[in-house]
Order: sequence, then structure tokens, then C-alpha cells
Amino acid sequence: MPLLDKFGRAISDLRISVTDRCNYKCVYCRTGNEGALYGELAFADYLRMARVLVGLGVTKVRLTGGEPLLRNGIVDFVRELAKLNTNSDHAIEIALTTNGHLLADLARPLKEAGLGRVTVSMDAVDPDRFARITRVPSGFDNVLAGIRAARDAGLGPVKLNCVLMRGFNEDQIIPFGLFAREEGVIVRFIEFMPLEEDRVWSRSTVVTLDEILARMSEYRPLVEIPHARSETARRYRFDDGIGEIGIIAPVSHPFCGHCSRIRITSDGKIRTCLFSVWDHDLHAQMRRGASDEELAEFIRGVVMKKEERHHIGEPDFVPASRTMVHIGG
Ligand code: SF4
Repeated sequence: MPLLDKFGRAISDLRISVTDRCNYKCVYCRTGNEGALYGELAFADYLRMARVLVGLGVTKVRLTGGEPLLRNGIVDFVRELAKLNTNSDHAIEIALTTNGHLLADLARPLKEAGLGRVTVSMDAVDPDRFARITRVPSGFDNVLAGIRAARDAGLGPVKLNCVLMRGFNEDQIIPFGLFAREEGVIVRFIEFMPLEEDRVWSRSTVVTLDEILARMSEYRPLVEIPHARSETARRYRFDDGIGEIGIIAPVSHPFCGHCSRIRITSDGKIRTCLFSVWDHDLHAQMRRGASDEELAEFIRGVVMKKEERHHIGEPDFVPASRTMVHIGG
């Protein structure tokens, strides 16, 4: 029996934030000086949460942060997660989203531990622009080495997530197209969402799907690739078959109707939507001694409270109760 919300959406995609610490200060995320606020749990706690959710039908577990590779023991945690496949009646895919700064040395050990895919957040292929966006002077070479190490370790197709902000990096669209073709990676452009620390978001800063397509088509024609409804990205291949891009357009083309995601924060709270104003304290249930069945019951109840959709740009929009670095992508 799949884990359904009240809109009939099956929840199959779990994202676990294993820390809200980060070694980058990206301008569209960490605009303020919040730093780490919520802390972390022992990996054994996240593992138990994942095991219960896999039992409820989750098929994808994605590790996020802050920056997940800052956690010592992340490779062992992936190995333990991969073992969940043994007792499960369905395959579980394990993926990770990272800023790539520490990936070069960890790509192969993560692959050997059972990691299936990696997504690297990268918002410019120009090193100076990269430094301006991340506010980390020496990051570009690390990230490039990390991407290549992941590709060579067989963690492909390596996906890059690029958040576009007008006035910051929309001129990187075509260079990223070239980069995707040369490096054999998939670049996904993401519309800027109001989840940053200082609430500086405005609709005018959003570079929309239509603009991205128009800009990239100036370089080469694109052909749309059919995609699963629950996939967040619209996918396109260049007309000569070399290179693929994706566009995640939550602002101009929302995809909430097929949302299959829930998130667990680094401090063990369930968030039913990126833009939720509620936290549901799963770890508190564990601390009070709840059994696995009681945890499952708690989760079913929380999923029935999942929001129908976001209200970005609408008069009744209420900012999320946490910013992106404290939720995990
Ligand atoms: S905004 Fe919320 S409901 Fe919509 S796709 Fe994202 S997580 Fe799902």
C-alpha cells in the first residue's frame, strides 16, 4: 500500500538533511549570517527513520544538507542505507546533493559504499563568477575535480544544479550548455525560489523556463525529452544528440500536482513541503520510545497534512518557516 497524501499523491522520494552546516555562503541561499541553527542527529537515528519510510514505500533516499560531505561517517552511513535494499520488497536508490567542494576524494568510496547518483550544486562555469556567487575564493577547481571524480567513479550521469538569478548568472546559460556537452554531465537550471535567509527574493530576479529555453536555443536547437510526471525537471537534448539540460521551474511552471517528496531536517523534523510553515517532530517520537509501527503511524498522519501546493508570488504567500540551508534541497 503506497504512502498517499490526501490529494492521492504517492510519497516515494525521501530527502534527509544530515547537517545544516555549510562551507559555502551562496548569495541566493545564505544571504544573512544565520550559520548552523538546528544541529545534527546520530546517523543511526536517520537510518531508523529511513528504514521505517522505506517500509512505507519510499524508493529514493537523497542525502542533502547544508553540505552533507562535511559529516564524518557519511560513507559508512551510505553503506548502511544501501543495506536496506536487502530486506526491502522494492529497490531503493540512494543519491546525494553536494556543493562538490569535498567530492574529489569521496566519490569512489561513496560509489563503493552503494551511492547511485550525485548532484552537484554549481552556479557558474566562470571561476570568478563562481567565487562571487559562493563567496569562497578557491572553490571552483575543487568542484570541477569533484565532478570529474564522480563521473569517473561511475556515479553518473552526474547532474549539476544551477540556480539562476537575474543580474548574477543568467549569462552562464550558454557556457553551461557547452560545459554539459564537453564534460558529459547534465546541467539543470533552477528558477530562484524565495527560500533564502534575508528574504530578498522578488519575481523580477527569477529567470524563467521560457527565457532559459530562448537563450539556449540561440546556441543550438533543443528537443524535449519525455519525462515522468513526478520528475521535477523538464528535460531537453541538443538537436545533434550531444548533451542534455534540464529546467526545474517551480515559479513559472509549478509541478506540485505530482509532488512525491517529503523531507527530514538535520534535527529530525518532517517537512511535508519546501514551503511548509510546519515542522513535525519525528525525532521526539523516537526519544519517547515509540516503536517502528508507532513511527509509521505518526508519518502516515503527517503525510495526510501535506500541503497541496506552494503559493509563490501570490497575495497569500507565507514564507517557509525555514530557509533552504536548514531544510535541504
Ligand atoms: S513546493 Fe512543495 S508541494 Fe510543490 S513540489 Fe515543492 S515540495 Fe512539492
